[in-house]
Amino acid sequence: MRFASQHFAILGAGRSGLGAARLARLHGAEVTIFDEGDKAKQVEDFRCVLGQPARDLVVKLGDFDKVIISPGLDEHWPLPKKFTDAGVPLVGETEFAFQLTDMALAAITGTNGKSTCTELIATLFNGCGMKSVPCGNHGMSLSEVVASGVHYDVLALEISSFQLETIRDFRARASLWLNFAPDHLDRYPDMESYYKAKARIFENVTADDIAIVRAGESVSSGAAQRWTFSAYGAEADYTYRDGAFYHHGEKIGSARGLKLRGKHNMENVLAALMTGRVYGLQFADMLKAMESYEPPRHRCELVRTLHDREYINDSKATNLHALEACLRSQERPIVLIAGGKDKELDYSPLRSELNGQVRAMVLIGEIAQQLKQTFGDLLPCQCATDMADAVQQATALSQPGDAIILSPGTSSFDMYTGYAQRGEVFREAVAALN
Ligand code: ADP
Repeated sequence: MRFASQHFAILGAGRSGLGAARLARLHGAEVTIFDEGDKAKQVEDFRCVLGQPARDLVVKLGDFDKVIISPGLDEHWPLPKKFTDAGVPLVGETEFAFQLTDMALAAITGTNGKSTCTELIATLFNGCGMKSVPCGNHGMSLSEVVASGVHYDVLALEISSFQLETIRDFRARASLWLNFAPDHLDRYPDMESYYKAKARIFENVTADDIAIVRAGESVSSGAAQRWTFSAYGAEADYTYRDGAFYHHGEKIGSARGLKLRGKHNMENVLAALMTGRVYGLQFADMLKAMESYEPPRHRCELVRTLHDREYINDSKATNLHALEACLRSQERPIVLIAGGKDKELDYSPLRSELNGQVRAMVLIGEIAQQLKQTFGDLLPCQCATDMADAVQQATALSQPGDAIILSPGTSSFDMYTGYAQRGEVFREAVAALN
């Protein structure tokens, strides 16, 4: 038993904490889970300190051998600092699980497309006869997967900047950098800190590893071999144009059978194909396997066609880059519903994208007035009181042949519990139209 007679503190009672607790116990450690949240719940039969008692906690040097932190927490917050100030070594949940497995990894990061690409990669491997599962920041935490004892040939591991903040030795055979754009400025002091956290995905890679990087990204991929991709006409090893995929200019397959739409999704497909190549899979088999992949909910999802107007739910667009990708993937004139929580993002770069293609905007949430000021001189901008009102106003502003799109460009927490609820409310509002 690797951790026999050791006592670990696990911070965070969510899926990451639960997985880490199971894994630590499996290796003989005694475990206590801490969570300061008032809504945090008892986790299985583990000893838990929740709510106020976690906030009042006094840590004595020697009480704990290790503290494992969930990605939702920042190591500089008061609770983790109590442990580190008392000299307890801190490790991130992902790093902890990484050290206890030898399963092959494909690690996926980026500002946008992580979930789609992670699911695509797992679908592709499973379809080609190699057992895989999407995990990490998506579905099961890495600790849960490792603790389950099930063997996978390749893990499709979505990894966020928050998870990368606390790595030490972590590395993957295939490391994917899908793209980078401003986001999470509510958690990071500046763009540079967000970028640095993400760039750690390449910190420990070796010359045997492959870095799969979007063409034009300035990030250093360390010692790894760098393979690039582009669906937007940039020079790259792997490219997409006019419905087909190419490797060094030679056609490797067509997108005809795929259910995904938009160039941004073709970049996700390219990155997935390249990951399969790292493990020796054939292009034709991989494309066939990806044909079964259904476009995920709330991501440029066609909800309804009514009176020759398409209603599209892109509620997952929680930053400007995703919003831009959505606009670029459309061929119809657009009435755009945008807005939500103030994440201190600068929306003015969107001015050139909106020009011509977007007929009007309907604005919601905390930043509605701010967006009206930014774009009001360019195109009609109206503020709405709620989603039903927004959908009605957008419909009134539209013409036959238009797309009416919810692509908020920011997060939803000022009005909803998350992007999924926001998307569901949009779907309901659209269903109620006649
Ligand atoms: P993540 O897990 O990184 O948030 P998702 O796959 O859930 O990524 O997609 C988030 C948003 O970004 C959606 O609005 C989606 O349409 C958009 N998107 C998906 N892939 C890309 C990409 N490669 N580039 C830009 N935007 C993308």
